[in-house]
Formats: sequence, structure tokens, C-alpha cells
Amino acid sequence: MWDFETDPEYQADLDWVTDFVREEVEPLQYVIPHVLDLDDPVRQALIPPLQQQVKDRGLWATHLGPDLGGKGHGQVKLALLNEILGAVPIAPIVFGCQAPDSGNAEILAHYGTAEHKRTYLQPLLDGNIFSCFSMTEPQGGSDPKEFTTSAVLDGDEWVINGEKWFSSNARYAEFLIVMVVTEPDAAPYQQQSMIIVPITTPGVEILRNVGHGFGDQDGTHAYIRYNDVRVAQENLLGGRGEAFVVAQTRLGGGRIHHAMRTVGMARAALEMMCERAVSRRTQGELLSKKQLVQEMVAESWIDLEQFRLLVLQTAWKIDRYQDYKRVRGDISAVKAAMPGVLHRIASRALQVHGSLGITEEMPFMGMISNAYHLGLADGPTEVHKVTLARTLLSQATPTEGLFPTTHRPAAREAAVAKYADVLAHAGRPA
Ligand SMILES: Cc1cc2nc3c(=O)[nH]c(=O)nc-3n(C[C@H](O)[C@H](O)[C@H](O)COP(=O)(O)OP(=O)(O)OC[C@H]3O[C@@H](n4cnc5c(N)ncnc54)[C@H](O)[C@@H]3O)c2cc1C
Repeated sequence: MWDFETDPEYQADLDWVTDFVREEVEPLQYVIPHVLDLDDPVRQALIPPLQQQVKDRGLWATHLGPDLGGKGHGQVKLALLNEILGAVPIAPIVFGCQAPDSGNAEILAHYGTAEHKRTYLQPLLDGNIFSCFSMTEPQGGSDPKEFTTSAVLDGDEWVINGEKWFSSNARYAEFLIVMVVTEPDAAPYQQQSMIIVPITTPGVEILRNVGHGFGDQDGTHAYIRYNDVRVAQENLLGGRGEAFVVAQTRLGGGRIHHAMRTVGMARAALEMMCERAVSRRTQGELLSKKQLVQEMVAESWIDLEQFRLLVLQTAWKIDRYQDYKRVRGDISAVKAAMPGVLHRIASRALQVHGSLGITEEMPFMGMISNAYHLGLADGPTEVHKVTLARTLLSQATPTEGLFPTTHRPAAREAAVAKYADVLAHAGRPA
């Protein structure tokens, strides 16, 4: 079976989502400054009714299995949905599939106790609270083996000390999932554990909320200090020393979900580029008549379609194998390709818009800044290229002889020997 079509029933849902996002969700970004701010009365008046419409339509948190209140649609259908949501940054909140909450829900579902699920998972799935994944530290991000934030058991409580950097959405989160060293004497990948910390726990100190790019003073990436933070022993998520295994559960899905949304954002940039090209005149003709502009349009389409197929095929493999380890190389390929695709397409769209393109009146600078975000968050591009390369190289076999197995002289010799009778019959010399 080899099929590129969406089934008509789901296509009808996607058509509904396209109209709904354009008409009901997109305008909200101009009246709601922080979509996660549950204390904003405008946000509270406008977002929950839309979330209810999504729930009524059966499209809320569809990536989750029915046991968690979702539809269990899997990754391919989620990809097709996320392509639409990706063009509007607040849309995933309205559909209950935003990062980092979707990944955090995934690990709570996998490793949480009944109490964790009742207290944290259910309200998260209902869209009533937000969460934060607190892993990166000021002195080390790409290599988690550099982390030093520690938790020591004192009676029946963990006591946490250390600093975390770029803990996104901590200021709006009800709880943090913190990666901490609990087994300092174990092997490097068994030293750390995950612990749930309610944000109001004494000793959790947000030193500042860091923004990124231009004009993002009011940031959402927290620099946090944990000062003798005490939580119950039961707040351990997964086993002691299992943080790396737990983290992989959320990061695999998280990376591909970002890629699905990136398809939507890059497509929006391409559409804007085309609209501008057929609207703006210079030297007596439309920009769309200039071959160098046509090249930008064509290159962007090629970039986008190649990337989209890679994302969809990887999503299909996740659904098919149900094993993130088996698709690790594929996800790393998607992750490594993603920033470049968005960066190139958004940059061309900016260029075609001229001076207007660089202003804050258009979204291109934000998209380009987002491309850098995608090249860092959930691991930098370099690390993912290495992961992919290692996967591919682990499947390669060394040759026994001096020359490659594809060396033409040897191949020719073998072919001549194989067809010696025919060649002799035709009177062709070997
Ligand atoms: C928008 C955004 C949101 C984020 N949200 C969160 C969050 O919610 N929670 C959280 O814990 N963290 C979060 N992060 C942090 C993110 O996980 C780290 O930025 C990432 O792991 C890289 O770590 P670092 O920034 O310390 O870079 P470093 O580790 O200092 O690396 C710097 C650079 O060194 C190079 N490099 C690193 N390793 C290698 C290698 N093996 N081979 C070759 N070159 C290499 C790469 O060019 C890399 O960009 C977020 C980051 C961003 C940008």
C-alpha cells in the first residue's frame, strides 16, 4: 500500500479546522498578549469557549489515546492537523496539543502514579493548567551529563538545590518536572532522576524570565534557582536514575510535533511570498515576472515539500512501529532539517517583501528567530546530525578486501565471468 490521500472523513475535519483557525483563532493573537496567562480576563473570556468547540468536534488532544481522553489518532493525523495549527502560534493551545505540555503529559501518563495523574495529568489534559520541563542548566545544555542540580533524600522528602536555565513557561506553570542528580556514584546515564515540583513550593526562585530575539523583553524562559526545595519522596517520576529514559519518552514526540508545526509556518511564509510577488510591481512589471524571484518561489516549494514528506513518513513510522528508539535516526533527520527549511523560506519571503518584510508589521523576523529556536531547543542541530550519522554508520559493513565492494573493475570481472557463455557465443572478447 502506498497512499498520499487523506480519508474523506478526516479531510472534512481538517477543512473545518482550517476555517476555524482562520476566523476564530488567528484574530486572538492581536488581543491576548500571553495565551498562557490564566489571570487575563480577556484570555479567559475568549479561549475556553473555543476549546469547548474543539472538544465538541472531537479534535481535542487527538494525539492521546482514548484512555487519556484523546482520540488516539496517532502521529500522521496529528501531523496533518499540526500543519494547520503551526501557522498560528496560539492555535495548539486551543486544540490541547501545545509544547511542552503535550510531552509532559506523555511522561506523566507513562510514569506517573495514580496520584500524579489525578493531581497533574488530568488538569493538564483538560487545559486547566500549564507545566514546565526544567532540564537545561546555565553551564550545560546539549550534554545533560554536565548537569549538577541535585536532590538528596532527607527522611521522606527530596531536597533540591541548583540552577536551571531556559525553563520555558515556568512563570505560568502549575508544576515543574525537574531533572536532578540523585545517584552521583552511578554510571553517567544512571545518575539523574525526574522529580515533580509544584511551582509554589518554598525555595523555587525565578531569577528572571528571559526573552529571545528582538523586542521580547517580557520573556517566558525562566532562569530558576532551587534553594533547599522540599517535595515528597513520592514526587519522583519514574525510577531513581531513570531520567534519561523518561526524557526520551517526551523528546521524541516533542521534536516531531515541532516539525509538523514548522511545515505550517513555512507554508504560510511561502503563501505570503507568492501573494506579494503577484501584487508588487517594479520596472514596469510584477515581481512574479522576475526570474530570480521565481527561483525563490520554486526553491521554497521544493524545500517545503521535501521536508513535509520526511515529516509525514517519520510520523507514519512512529505509528507503524510504536517504538521511538527504532525511529530515532529519522526524528534526528527531521530535527536537523527543520531550522534550515524555515530559515530559508522565511528569509526569501522577507526579501520579496522588501523593507516591509523586515518590520514588525510582518511575521518574518519572528519566523527567522523561531528557526534559531528550532535549531537549539530539544538539542542542537549538530547533535542530531551526529545521531543520524551514527545510526546510518552502525548499519554499514566494512569491506574485507582493499577496494570497495562497488569497485568497478571487480564488478566487471564478476559480470564477465557470469555471462562468459553468452559473450563467447557472441564472439565478444572478455
Ligand atoms: C526557545 C527555547 C526553548 C527552550 N525550552 C527549554 C525548556 O523548556 N526546558 C529546558 O530544560 N531547556 C529548554 N531549552 C534549552 C535547550 O534544550 C538548549 O538550548 C539545548 O539543549 C542546547 O543547550 P545550550 O543552549 O546550553 O547550548 P550548548 O550546550 O552550550 O551548545 C552550544 C552550541 O555548541 C554546539 N554543540 C553542542 N554540542 C555539540 C556536539 N556534540 N557536536 C558539535 N557541536 C556541538 C552547537 O552549535 C550548540 O548550539 C530551550 C531552548 C530554546 C532556544
